[in-house]
Amino acid sequence: MSGPPVVAVDIGGTKLAVRALADGTTVHERTVHWPRGADTDVEFGLLAASVAEAVEALGGAPARIGVAAAPNVDRHGRVTVWPNRPGWRGRCLRTPFVSTGAPVLFGDDASLAALAEAHSAACPDLVHLGLGTGVGGGLVCGGRLLTGAWGSAAELGHLVVDPGGPVCRCGARGCLQAGASGPALAAYATALRDRPTTTADLVAGVADGADWAADTLDHAADLLARALAVLAEVVQPERAHLGGGLGSALTGLPERVAGRLPAAARAGRPVPEVRTATHGAHASLEGAALLARRGAGLLGGERVA
Ligand SMILES: [Zn+2]
Repeated sequence: MSGPPVVAVDIGGTKLAVRALADGTTVHERTVHWPRGADTDVEFGLLAASVAEAVEALGGAPARIGVAAAPNVDRHGRVTVWPNRPGWRGRCLRTPFVSTGAPVLFGDDASLAALAEAHSAACPDLVHLGLGTGVGGGLVCGGRLLTGAWGSAAELGHLVVDPGGPVCRCGARGCLQAGASGPALAAYATALRDRPTTTADLVAGVADGADWAADTLDHAADLLARALAVLAEVVQPERAHLGGGLGSALTGLPERVAGRLPAAARAGRPVPEVRTATHGAHASLEGAALLARRGAGLLGGERVA
Protein backbone atom coordinates (compact mmCIF):
# COMPACT_ATOMS: atom_id res chain seq x y z
CA MET A 1 0.00 0.00 0.00
CA SER A 2 1.23 3.52 -0.65
CA GLY A 3 0.23 6.88 0.72
CA PRO A 4 1.61 10.06 2.23
CA PRO A 5 3.00 10.06 5.77
CA VAL A 6 0.07 10.84 8.07
CA VAL A 7 -0.89 10.83 11.73
CA ALA A 8 -4.26 9.61 12.99
CA VAL A 9 -5.64 10.56 16.40
CA ASP A 10 -8.69 9.29 18.27
CA ILE A 11 -9.78 11.51 21.16
CA GLY A 12 -12.18 9.38 23.19
CA GLY A 13 -13.93 9.77 26.51
CA THR A 14 -11.49 7.61 28.45
CA LYS A 15 -8.58 7.12 26.05
CA LEU A 16 -6.38 8.86 23.53
CA ALA A 17 -4.99 6.80 20.62
CA VAL A 18 -2.36 8.02 18.16
CA ARG A 19 -1.04 6.20 15.10
CA ALA A 20 1.62 7.22 12.54
CA LEU A 21 1.51 5.75 9.03
CA ALA A 22 4.08 5.85 6.24
CA ASP A 23 3.24 4.31 2.86
CA GLY A 24 0.02 2.99 4.39
CA THR A 25 1.94 1.03 7.04
CA THR A 26 1.70 1.73 10.76
CA VAL A 27 5.11 2.77 12.08
CA HIS A 28 3.93 3.88 15.52
CA GLU A 29 0.83 3.41 17.64
CA ARG A 30 0.10 4.24 21.24
CA THR A 31 -3.00 4.41 23.41
CA VAL A 32 -3.00 6.24 26.73
CA HIS A 33 -5.76 6.68 29.29
CA TRP A 34 -6.58 10.22 30.28
CA PRO A 35 -5.18 10.76 33.78
CA ARG A 36 -8.00 10.74 36.33
CA GLY A 37 -9.03 14.19 37.51
CA ALA A 38 -6.43 16.04 35.40
CA ASP A 39 -7.22 19.59 34.26
CA THR A 40 -7.59 20.59 30.62
CA ASP A 41 -4.05 22.02 30.35
CA VAL A 42 -2.57 18.69 31.45
CA GLU A 43 -4.80 16.82 28.97
CA PHE A 44 -3.85 19.17 26.12
CA GLY A 45 -0.20 18.68 27.08
CA LEU A 46 -0.60 14.91 26.91
CA LEU A 47 -2.25 15.24 23.50
CA ALA A 48 0.58 17.46 22.19
CA ALA A 49 3.26 15.11 23.54
CA SER A 50 1.55 12.02 22.06
CA VAL A 51 1.29 13.67 18.64
CA ALA A 52 4.93 14.85 18.82
CA GLU A 53 5.98 11.27 19.54
CA ALA A 54 4.12 10.03 16.44
CA VAL A 55 5.66 12.76 14.27
CA GLU A 56 9.12 11.80 15.53
CA ALA A 57 8.43 8.16 14.59
CA LEU A 58 7.64 9.33 11.06
CA GLY A 59 10.97 11.15 10.90
CA GLY A 60 9.36 14.31 9.52
CA ALA A 61 6.21 16.34 9.32
CA PRO A 62 3.10 14.41 8.26
CA ALA A 63 1.24 15.49 5.12
CA ARG A 64 -1.91 15.66 7.22
CA ILE A 65 -3.31 14.81 10.62
CA GLY A 66 -6.77 13.26 10.88
CA VAL A 67 -8.54 13.52 14.21
CA ALA A 68 -11.54 11.47 15.30
CA ALA A 69 -13.07 13.57 18.07
CA ALA A 70 -15.63 12.62 20.69
CA PRO A 71 -16.13 16.32 21.50
CA ASN A 72 -18.03 18.45 18.99
CA VAL A 73 -15.57 20.71 17.18
CA ASP A 74 -16.62 23.68 15.02
CA ARG A 75 -15.00 24.61 11.71
CA HIS A 76 -12.47 26.83 13.47
CA GLY A 77 -11.32 23.91 15.60
CA ARG A 78 -13.03 25.13 18.75
CA VAL A 79 -14.72 22.64 21.10
CA THR A 80 -18.42 23.50 21.32
CA VAL A 81 -19.77 20.62 23.42
CA TRP A 82 -18.28 17.77 25.39
CA PRO A 83 -20.44 16.66 28.31
CA ASN A 84 -17.61 14.32 29.43
CA ARG A 85 -15.16 17.23 29.89
CA PRO A 86 -16.81 20.61 30.43
CA GLY A 87 -13.33 22.18 30.74
CA TRP A 88 -12.67 21.60 27.01
CA ARG A 89 -15.59 23.77 25.95
CA GLY A 90 -14.45 26.91 24.17
CA ARG A 91 -10.84 25.71 23.87
CA CYS A 92 -9.16 25.58 20.47
CA LEU A 93 -8.34 21.96 19.69
CA ARG A 94 -5.83 23.03 17.02
CA THR A 95 -3.43 24.30 19.69
CA PRO A 96 -1.90 20.90 20.63
CA PHE A 97 -1.13 20.29 16.92
CA VAL A 98 0.40 23.68 16.02
CA SER A 99 4.03 22.64 16.52
CA THR A 100 3.69 19.87 13.90
CA GLY A 101 3.07 22.46 11.16
CA ALA A 102 0.74 19.96 9.47
CA PRO A 103 -2.85 20.61 8.38
CA VAL A 104 -5.33 19.08 10.84
CA LEU A 105 -8.75 17.72 9.92
CA PHE A 106 -11.36 17.00 12.58
CA GLY A 107 -14.22 14.54 12.20
CA ASP A 108 -16.87 13.13 14.50
CA ASP A 109 -15.52 9.87 15.96
CA ALA A 110 -18.72 7.91 15.27
CA SER A 111 -18.93 9.18 11.67
CA LEU A 112 -15.30 8.28 11.00
CA ALA A 113 -15.89 4.81 12.44
CA ALA A 114 -18.76 4.30 9.97
CA LEU A 115 -16.60 5.53 7.08
CA ALA A 116 -13.79 3.15 8.01
CA GLU A 117 -16.16 0.20 8.28
CA ALA A 118 -17.87 0.97 4.96
CA HIS A 119 -14.50 1.43 3.26
CA SER A 120 -13.02 -1.83 4.56
CA ALA A 121 -16.16 -3.83 3.78
CA ALA A 122 -16.56 -2.09 0.39
CA CYS A 123 -20.19 -1.66 1.48
CA PRO A 124 -21.90 1.58 0.34
CA ASP A 125 -24.90 1.24 2.69
CA LEU A 126 -23.74 0.59 6.21
CA VAL A 127 -24.64 1.61 9.74
CA HIS A 128 -22.09 1.49 12.55
CA LEU A 129 -23.16 1.45 16.16
CA GLY A 130 -20.43 1.85 18.76
CA LEU A 131 -21.31 0.67 22.27
CA GLY A 132 -19.15 2.13 25.01
CA THR A 133 -19.59 5.01 27.43
CA GLY A 134 -22.55 5.95 25.22
CA VAL A 135 -23.88 4.65 21.91
CA GLY A 136 -22.38 6.40 18.89
CA GLY A 137 -23.89 6.03 15.45
CA GLY A 138 -22.73 6.65 11.91
CA LEU A 139 -24.43 6.03 8.58
CA VAL A 140 -22.96 5.62 5.13
CA CYS A 141 -25.66 5.80 2.44
CA GLY A 142 -24.96 5.34 -1.25
CA GLY A 143 -21.23 5.30 -0.42
CA ARG A 144 -21.30 8.71 1.27
CA LEU A 145 -21.41 9.76 4.88
CA LEU A 146 -24.89 10.90 5.87
CA THR A 147 -24.32 14.34 7.38
CA GLY A 148 -27.73 16.03 7.29
CA ALA A 149 -28.43 19.73 6.83
CA TRP A 150 -26.33 20.81 9.82
CA GLY A 151 -23.60 18.21 9.65
CA SER A 152 -24.58 16.18 12.68
CA ALA A 153 -26.98 13.53 11.38
CA ALA A 154 -27.10 9.96 12.67
CA GLU A 155 -27.21 10.61 16.40
CA LEU A 156 -28.50 7.06 16.61
CA GLY A 157 -27.91 6.75 20.35
CA HIS A 158 -30.94 9.00 20.84
CA LEU A 159 -33.39 6.94 18.82
CA VAL A 160 -36.21 6.15 21.24
CA VAL A 161 -36.50 2.36 21.27
CA ASP A 162 -38.02 1.74 24.71
CA PRO A 163 -40.59 4.41 25.68
CA GLY A 164 -40.93 2.96 29.19
CA GLY A 165 -37.17 2.57 29.61
CA PRO A 166 -34.63 4.53 31.63
CA VAL A 167 -34.17 8.29 31.28
CA CYS A 168 -31.31 9.27 28.98
CA ARG A 169 -28.63 11.88 29.72
CA CYS A 170 -30.42 14.03 27.09
CA GLY A 171 -33.57 14.08 29.24
CA ALA A 172 -35.73 11.84 27.05
CA ARG A 173 -36.89 8.42 28.15
CA GLY A 174 -35.97 5.22 26.36
CA CYS A 175 -33.13 6.31 24.06
CA LEU A 176 -31.00 3.47 22.68
CA GLN A 177 -28.08 4.92 24.64
CA ALA A 178 -30.05 4.91 27.89
CA GLY A 179 -30.56 1.16 27.53
CA ALA A 180 -27.60 -0.25 25.60
CA SER A 181 -24.55 1.83 26.57
CA GLY A 182 -21.91 0.28 28.82
CA PRO A 183 -23.14 1.99 32.01
CA ALA A 184 -26.77 1.11 31.14
CA LEU A 185 -25.98 -2.57 30.58
CA ALA A 186 -23.90 -2.68 33.76
CA ALA A 187 -26.88 -1.22 35.66
CA TYR A 188 -29.24 -3.74 34.04
CA ALA A 189 -26.98 -6.66 35.03
CA THR A 190 -26.53 -5.21 38.53
CA ALA A 191 -30.31 -5.18 39.03
CA LEU A 192 -30.66 -8.67 37.56
CA ARG A 193 -28.04 -10.19 39.87
CA ASP A 194 -28.68 -7.89 42.81
CA ARG A 195 -24.91 -7.31 43.09
CA PRO A 196 -22.57 -4.66 41.65
CA THR A 197 -21.61 -5.61 38.09
CA THR A 198 -19.25 -3.79 35.74
CA THR A 199 -19.01 -4.01 31.95
CA ALA A 200 -15.82 -6.08 32.44
CA ASP A 201 -17.88 -8.51 34.58
CA LEU A 202 -20.47 -8.61 31.80
CA VAL A 203 -17.89 -9.44 29.11
CA ALA A 204 -16.47 -12.18 31.36
CA GLY A 205 -19.97 -13.46 32.19
CA VAL A 206 -20.84 -13.72 28.51
CA ALA A 207 -17.62 -15.62 27.83
CA ASP A 208 -18.41 -17.99 30.74
CA GLY A 209 -21.98 -18.55 29.54
CA ALA A 210 -23.58 -17.14 32.73
CA ASP A 211 -27.39 -16.94 32.58
CA TRP A 212 -27.55 -13.34 33.86
CA ALA A 213 -25.03 -12.26 31.20
CA ALA A 214 -27.04 -13.98 28.46
CA ASP A 215 -30.19 -12.22 29.70
CA THR A 216 -28.39 -8.87 29.63
CA LEU A 217 -27.13 -9.59 26.12
CA ASP A 218 -30.69 -10.45 25.04
CA HIS A 219 -31.90 -7.15 26.47
CA ALA A 220 -29.23 -5.23 24.51
CA ALA A 221 -30.07 -7.24 21.38
CA ASP A 222 -33.78 -6.34 21.71
CA LEU A 223 -33.00 -2.62 21.84
CA LEU A 224 -30.49 -2.77 18.99
CA ALA A 225 -32.91 -4.77 16.82
CA ARG A 226 -35.60 -2.13 17.37
CA ALA A 227 -33.19 0.62 16.31
CA LEU A 228 -32.11 -1.32 13.22
CA ALA A 229 -35.75 -1.97 12.28
CA VAL A 230 -36.30 1.81 12.21
CA LEU A 231 -33.16 2.32 10.14
CA ALA A 232 -34.27 -0.44 7.75
CA GLU A 233 -37.39 1.65 7.08
CA VAL A 234 -35.55 4.95 6.64
CA VAL A 235 -32.22 4.27 4.93
CA GLN A 236 -32.17 0.51 4.33
CA PRO A 237 -28.58 -0.33 5.26
CA GLU A 238 -27.13 -3.51 3.80
CA ARG A 239 -24.94 -4.09 6.84
CA ALA A 240 -24.98 -3.16 10.51
CA HIS A 241 -21.59 -3.28 12.25
CA LEU A 242 -21.49 -3.34 16.04
CA GLY A 243 -18.32 -1.85 17.51
CA GLY A 244 -17.00 0.33 20.28
CA GLY A 245 -15.06 -1.02 23.24
CA LEU A 246 -18.02 -2.97 24.65
CA GLY A 247 -19.86 -3.79 21.41
CA SER A 248 -16.73 -5.45 20.01
CA ALA A 249 -16.11 -7.46 23.17
CA LEU A 250 -19.58 -9.00 23.64
CA THR A 251 -19.30 -12.36 21.91
CA GLY A 252 -22.52 -13.45 20.22
CA LEU A 253 -24.20 -10.02 20.26
CA PRO A 254 -24.51 -9.71 16.44
CA GLU A 255 -26.10 -13.17 16.20
CA ARG A 256 -28.63 -12.30 18.90
CA VAL A 257 -29.51 -9.00 17.21
CA ALA A 258 -29.86 -10.75 13.86
CA GLY A 259 -32.12 -13.35 15.47
CA ARG A 260 -34.48 -10.62 16.73
CA LEU A 261 -34.48 -8.42 13.65
CA PRO A 262 -37.13 -10.26 11.59
CA ALA A 263 -39.65 -9.93 14.45
CA ALA A 264 -38.70 -6.29 15.11
CA ALA A 265 -38.98 -5.27 11.46
CA ARG A 266 -42.10 -5.02 9.32
CA ALA A 267 -42.96 -8.31 7.65
CA GLY A 268 -41.11 -8.74 4.39
CA ARG A 269 -38.85 -5.76 4.94
CA PRO A 270 -35.20 -6.44 4.03
CA VAL A 271 -33.03 -6.15 7.15
CA PRO A 272 -29.28 -5.55 7.39
CA GLU A 273 -26.73 -8.26 7.96
CA VAL A 274 -25.41 -7.76 11.51
CA ARG A 275 -21.71 -8.23 12.26
CA THR A 276 -19.01 -7.24 14.70
CA ALA A 277 -17.15 -4.19 13.40
CA THR A 278 -14.19 -5.13 11.21
CA HIS A 279 -11.94 -2.75 13.11
CA GLY A 280 -13.52 -3.49 16.47
CA ALA A 281 -12.86 -0.78 19.03
CA HIS A 282 -10.33 0.86 16.65
CA ALA A 283 -12.80 1.89 13.95
CA SER A 284 -12.62 5.60 14.84
CA LEU A 285 -8.81 5.61 14.71
CA GLU A 286 -8.96 3.76 11.39
CA GLY A 287 -11.40 6.41 10.15
CA ALA A 288 -9.05 9.18 11.30
CA ALA A 289 -6.26 7.56 9.25
CA LEU A 290 -8.58 7.39 6.25
CA LEU A 291 -9.46 11.08 6.71
CA ALA A 292 -5.76 11.98 6.91
CA ARG A 293 -4.99 10.02 3.73
CA ARG A 294 -7.99 11.13 1.69
CA GLY A 295 -8.66 14.66 2.92
CA ALA A 296 -11.72 16.69 3.90
CA GLY A 297 -13.77 15.57 0.87
CA LEU A 298 -14.53 12.38 2.76
CA LEU A 299 -16.66 14.36 5.22
CA GLY A 300 -18.17 16.46 2.45
CA GLY A 301 -19.82 13.87 0.26
CA GLU A 302 -16.95 12.05 -1.41
CA ARG A 303 -17.64 8.33 -1.87
CA VAL A 304 -15.88 5.98 0.49
CA ALA A 305 -17.31 2.74 -0.93
ZN1 LIG B 1 -31.11 10.52 24.60
